[in-house]
Amino acid sequence: MPHEITLIPGDGTGPELIEATRRVLEATGVEFAWDRQEAGIDEYEAHGNPFPQATLASLRNTGIGIKGPTTTPVGSGFRSVNVLLRKELDLYACIRPCRAYEGVRTRFPETDIVIVRENTEDLYAGIEFERGTEGNARVRECLAQLGSSVREDAGISIKPISVFGSERIVEAAFDYAARYGREKVTAVHKANIMKFSDGLFLEVAREVAARHPEIEFEDRIVDNLCNQLVSRPEEYDVLVLPNLYGDIVSDLGAGMVGGLGLAPGGNIGTHAAVFEATHGSAPKYKGLNRVNPTALMLSGVLMLRHLDEEDAANRMEGAIAAVIRKGERVTYDLKPHRDDPSAVGTSEFADAVIEEMNE
Ligand code: NAD
Repeated sequence: MPHEITLIPGDGTGPELIEATRRVLEATGVEFAWDRQEAGIDEYEAHGNPFPQATLASLRNTGIGIKGPTTTPVGSGFRSVNVLLRKELDLYACIRPCRAYEGVRTRFPETDIVIVRENTEDLYAGIEFERGTEGNARVRECLAQLGSSVREDAGISIKPISVFGSERIVEAAFDYAARYGREKVTAVHKANIMKFSDGLFLEVAREVAARHPEIEFEDRIVDNLCNQLVSRPEEYDVLVLPNLYGDIVSDLGAGMVGGLGLAPGGNIGTHAAVFEATHGSAPKYKGLNRVNPTALMLSGVLMLRHLDEEDAANRMEGAIAAVIRKGERVTYDLKPHRDDPSAVGTSEFADAVIEEMNE
């Protein structure tokens, strides 16, 4: 039986990245029944909705999607498709492995970490009160009654972190560690300052860790973690973080392993999972067959593992790693100089991976 998968090309460079990734996934020999669905700015301009009901219905039906990046206009237009997607499908865990492949120029070649970011709570919950509004005045009034004063000209964002949200994300981190033979989970927080939000996250993390004695557990304050990651990356394994720190440390991890073109991701919930690169739609390269498909292809590898297609996942990751190690048929961002004339395009990189897999 083929795996039914919702395929969302997205916009900007998304469609060319998805096409390259789809070809490589099919070349593994695993059978897929793709349900192609639209999302993003092109769909918004054509039909007035960046995230059609049909796309959501398909994801609900298949339970698994692979998605190209989608543009979110700054300041106006529509809400982020990614935020809607995570909310609608309750994709609470964002898994982002950051592994430095041989052949990539990086100062941190020992890096092999997995970031497990909570996706639904924290300062990203969208509970905000704009300066000068009635809601803001009422919140300040309430705070004043509770003994905390906030300046009249302040904007306010609320940071909720719950036992429920913390427990399921830390469990997801331990599950990942157990499933993929990882030895240690590090909970990352700022509990010394935010005692009742990050403090709760840490307390719950310790309780969950006690249920998994076979896996080592430790915690780090987020600023110290950033320092240590760039000094001794080899000491870190699986990191579990609340939403905001997870977002920031994900980009740090992507930079450590050679850039956004190499950083994959998966957003996992109880009933659905959507795999996509960490990077955005890179619109200035749209249609140029130029950008690096590695991040989306490695997201495809995560999808194969999620589907229990471990052998195909290993072959695909091995072929991508070999192409990068050889350094010949790679995109401009993996060349010593960005204007290197020997750089290949998105599609030719996919050809190289397919040939490597078939050897
Ligand atoms: P971006 O990640 O799209 O691009 C920033 C720069 O990184 C590019 O100009 C390019 O130089 C480089 N880059 C990115 N991906 C690359 C690749 N695969 N290969 C080689 N180089 C690559 O970030 P941005 O310009 O800040 O965002 C563009 C749009 O994407 C925005 O509208 C943003 O909201 C959206 N976005 C979407 C997602 C998503 O769909 N998951 C994630 C992040 C940003």
